[in-house]
Amino acid sequence: LPQEFIEAQPILTKLEDAGFEAYFVGGSVRDTLLGKTIHDVDIASSAFPEEVKSLFHNTVDTGIQHGTVMVLDHGTGYEITTFRVESTYTDFRRPDRVTFVRSLEEDLKRRDFTINALAMRHDGEILDLFNGLEDMKKGVIRAVGDAEKRFTEDALRMMRALRFSAQLGFNIEADTQKALVDLAPNLAKIAVERIRVEFEKLLLGSQASQSLEMALRDHVMNYLPGPHIEDWSNIIVDLNKGQATNYAVAWTHVLSRAQFDDTKRRQFMYDWKMSRNVMKTVSAIVPIVQNPEKSTVFDIYQVLAYQKELLEVLALTDSQPETIERISHIIEMLPITKAADIKISGGELIRSGILAPGPLLGRVLKEIEYAVVVGDVLNDHDALEKFAKEYVNDQN
Ligand code: ATP
Ligand code: MG
Repeated sequence: LPQEFIEAQPILTKLEDAGFEAYFVGGSVRDTLLGKTIHDVDIASSAFPEEVKSLFHNTVDTGIQHGTVMVLDHGTGYEITTFRVESTYTDFRRPDRVTFVRSLEEDLKRRDFTINALAMRHDGEILDLFNGLEDMKKGVIRAVGDAEKRFTEDALRMMRALRFSAQLGFNIEADTQKALVDLAPNLAKIAVERIRVEFEKLLLGSQASQSLEMALRDHVMNYLPGPHIEDWSNIIVDLNKGQATNYAVAWTHVLSRAQFDDTKRRQFMYDWKMSRNVMKTVSAIVPIVQNPEKSTVFDIYQVLAYQKELLEVLALTDSQPETIERISHIIEMLPITKAADIKISGGELIRSGILAPGPLLGRVLKEIEYAVVVGDVLNDHDALEKFAKEYVNDQN
């Protein structure tokens, strides 16, 4: 058993000693069985939240209305969720009400896919009530129970099916896939943030292209946020060659392939409710990725903060090797990486009487920065002072 489970064993046994059932559940069990590394473990228990709280001293109500209590143990937080069922999904998204139950089976039944409905005892024994192990062996994603019903309850599960298929390289089982085709329009009713979480995980999946191909074929793309992207097939081809390592790279890749003008691209990013950081990165690099041969030394200097992402997207979009080499070379040879590296300051220019505070000073500093970056002047105090003097003289 991975260390994460070993460390959490005392929590399970404490619940069991008090007469409750307790299991590891969800992604950590699935990923361990698949030989993948895990980040955190989730625990499900027959103990009700108040019972969990009375057993452990150090707890936080992280999601008590859903039955989740966090137990703090040696600096690690463990989420213990009471077995529960969810009822009456009236809006295709969230359950109207959760009910706590004492039965593990009831709890596993409401989970999305068979590979996500496995439970593990504290000693590592697996409880497999829905043939999740067999589906895992076959490499399929199958809804627990009736797929049409499950996707009608919560449309997000369709995105999750595609996301898991991208991460695991699994196929979507035939009935589950049929339900996905039928119910994809319900995706339009899901909160953008929830869709984005799953879609970003999909884009970073090692088999993202396979999953996007399914999404394209099954018309899922039509129900996703933002203006429609025409060029998915090229994006899919790119992803077959390499995998994005973060969301900013993934979105830059997607948006450098989309035939959007600036306005439409911004619209797309707002519709997807992307973080400000991702928006900034995308806006900075897309113009360069779309036209890398034309990028100038100063263009590259201006996006230096995003150089890692830039080079990654260039590699993904299969730009000419010479182009990537040229840009890498530019980065290496840049005399400065930021304005603060310039060997003269506005203050110094004022003190030496060359300039007075005001708009001209700002312009001169910009000129200096440009001239240093493109190599028109050496980044040397005296050389820059001379450059500034000459510039001011030219203005008069
Ligand atoms: P990851 O490794 O990406 O966290 P995960 O399987 O743990 O994957 P979570 O979103 O963390 O995914 O959810 C934990 C578990 O809760 C899932 O394994 C699944 O059993 C259940 N679950 C999560 N979302 C849903 C949903 N929309 N419908 C049904 N069950 C769900
Ligand atoms: Mg998880």
